[in-house]
Amino acid sequence: MRRVAALAASLALLLAACSQPPERHTATIFAMDTVMELTVYGDESVLEDAQDMIYELESRLSVTGPESEIYALNSGASVDLSDDTAALLDSALQICAMTDGALDITVYPLVMAWGFTTGDYRVPEEDEISGLLENVGYDAVSVTDGAVTAPPGVTLDLGAVAKGWAGDKLAALLAERGVESGLFSLGGNIQAVGNNPDGSPWRVGIRDPFGDSYFAVVQASDAAIVTSGGYERYFQQDGVTYCHIIDPSTGRPAVSGLASVTVIGGQGVLCDGLSTAIYVMGLDRAVDLWRENTGFDIVFVTDSREVYITEGIEDSFSLADGYEDMELKVIRRA
Ligand code: AMP
Ligand code: MG
Repeated sequence: MRRVAALAASLALLLAACSQPPERHTATIFAMDTVMELTVYGDESVLEDAQDMIYELESRLSVTGPESEIYALNSGASVDLSDDTAALLDSALQICAMTDGALDITVYPLVMAWGFTTGDYRVPEEDEISGLLENVGYDAVSVTDGAVTAPPGVTLDLGAVAKGWAGDKLAALLAERGVESGLFSLGGNIQAVGNNPDGSPWRVGIRDPFGDSYFAVVQASDAAIVTSGGYERYFQQDGVTYCHIIDPSTGRPAVSGLASVTVIGGQGVLCDGLSTAIYVMGLDRAVDLWRENTGFDIVFVTDSREVYITEGIEDSFSLADGYEDMELKVIRRA
């Protein structure tokens, strides 16, 4: 009888231990030119490995770091790309093609000319812009067996996709290590791994492009939620606002009627590349792109504060308190 009681007591203890939520571990780091908030539930060593992974990616992909593979490529060196960088370059080129060049990983000379890399903002002359555009064109770049071919003068920059790629790799790290819950906020890129430890989906706020708070919330599990917006980096001159996303077809900051674009889907690199591209494309072209493809949904905020969402997130999207008056329209497939 006593043995049964002892067994029951230890079973109760075991059940209590099992129902304890996994411990929350967080870190804030500065990497890839932004502040990142990392949250992992369970094994703390995974949080440390996540940080190392981000720093390693940054050192390999940075366009300015002399140690990086991209820097070496841009300096004209013949570089044996790591498998991972080659895979990212390949994915990025596919998104460039998919968006008909609205994403263009060779647009960097223009980003520099407008001063977005240094903060010394300026409006370049038309001649300078057309001269620089001669070296812009992702379709002249190819990757075969890890070897990159790019014409001399072409500069690669993976800044529009690197954080999304990092999100995918962080999600893979957690899966490999048996961590079921994590949330990574990588400066405008959110990677939600699994669900909240209580089993409910993550609730991710989308920033109001005209203010400092969140205008909407999306519920997401195992998803990337990536926002691009003109408000992230811009300057004003003679009453005109110039944002950091360049339209590769003009060499000028994109003006598409959108204030921000959020892309939600299972693949971080795709969501990141698309959010930048869609900011350039504008609503109508982006809706065509969405209708022709699967694997992502979009939240658009227009310059006139209208909100459009694609139908896949109709049930998981809600306007935040205080924003219920925003006009919300749902875009359907057909
Ligand atoms: P994101 O924050 O992901 O939207 O990426 C924006 C960054 O990508 C900018 O700060 C530029 O460095 C770079 N960029 C700007 N315009 C483009 C473009 N059309 N295609 C690819 N990269 C771009
Ligand atoms: Mg992007």
